[in-house]
Amino acid sequence: MLLEAHELKKHYDTRNGVVKAVDGVSFALEPGKTFALVGESGCGKSTLAKLMLLLEKPTSGAVRYRGQEVSGLGGRALRQFRREVQAVFQDPYASLNPRLRVGKIVAEPMLAQGDLSRAEIAKRVEEALEVVGLHATAAKLFPHEFSGGQRQRIAVARALAVRPEVVILDEPTSALDVSIRAQILNLLSDIQEEFGLSYLIIAHDLALVEHFSHATGVMYLGNMVEQGPTGAVFGAPSHPYTQALLASAPRPDPDHRLPTDVIIGEIGSALKVPAGCPFHPRCPKRFAPCDSDPPERHVTAPGAWARCHLLTAQTASATPVTRTSRTPGAAGADPLERTAQ
Ligand code: ADP
Repeated sequence: MLLEAHELKKHYDTRNGVVKAVDGVSFALEPGKTFALVGESGCGKSTLAKLMLLLEKPTSGAVRYRGQEVSGLGGRALRQFRREVQAVFQDPYASLNPRLRVGKIVAEPMLAQGDLSRAEIAKRVEEALEVVGLHATAAKLFPHEFSGGQRQRIAVARALAVRPEVVILDEPTSALDVSIRAQILNLLSDIQEEFGLSYLIIAHDLALVEHFSHATGVMYLGNMVEQGPTGAVFGAPSHPYTQALLASAPRPDPDHRLPTDVIIGEIGSALKVPAGCPFHPRCPKRFAPCDSDPPERHVTAPGAWARCHLLTAQTASATPVTRTSRTPGAAGADPLERTAQ
């Protein structure tokens, strides 16, 4: 695995109490693939992205890059991580320094690395601008001389110029006109194919995620509630939250209409994450254990899982285990094993 989160937590101590922005999240990004994080606003996606970029320090848990824990990296290895893991943020108006010419903006991360000659940097700036579909003369202009879509191309060029392995894309198209979004996404897809890049993308737009990502993780109040190959998560969502999230998004394919049990109320507060399953106060299907016991991971398809008591209960009633034939302590203890077969 290229980039991994292992039981990552980020809690903020505030005047009003402890905000559990990210509360024990694990996932892995494979080389050359895209992992998407989805979930309502406030569920911890951006905090998770900041943890992966080392812009925030985890309260506990680990970020691993190429199998190594990044908290232990220093000097050269840390510089290599910072070069190989780049980011493109949501708002190309805010993320590009308006006082710098585009050439300087794209060159900045390379100048910070300090290991390339001026001539090499100038060559890379030109190449990166070309890859994102801008003319080399763009280097001489200022950000305000470009449209939103072009500015996001500049942000992508800046990330690419240092030859990264991973790009973290935090809502890369949501500040853009709808007509421009597809262009930027197609560009990102082409670049991924050409350079074998891995993307971690945060996106509100579920249609975009379905089209663009290989794997998807669904977050709710700092927890990952469902995760797996995008086809499995979108084709047969198992968690009631994922089902509700997808049912609320417009989908062109009538064969993929999902159960429309309405979720109750609004997303809770990360200051007061409910006991048991964090989603239970809003869940139309909740039952006895949901408000007291945190659900375990339950395998739902190859490489996919969801944390929901309902799944465990359904499996238990569908495949009863004969007490006489089981090994002591094994049956019923691990619903993952039964469904994984
Ligand atoms: P998302 O990106 O899914 O909208 P965020 O990661 O921005 O969610 O936020 C998750 C939760 O953590 C929210 O409740 C937010 O208010 C809180 N939060 C984020 N950053 C801080 C911070 N620096 N201090 C306190 N609370 C924070």
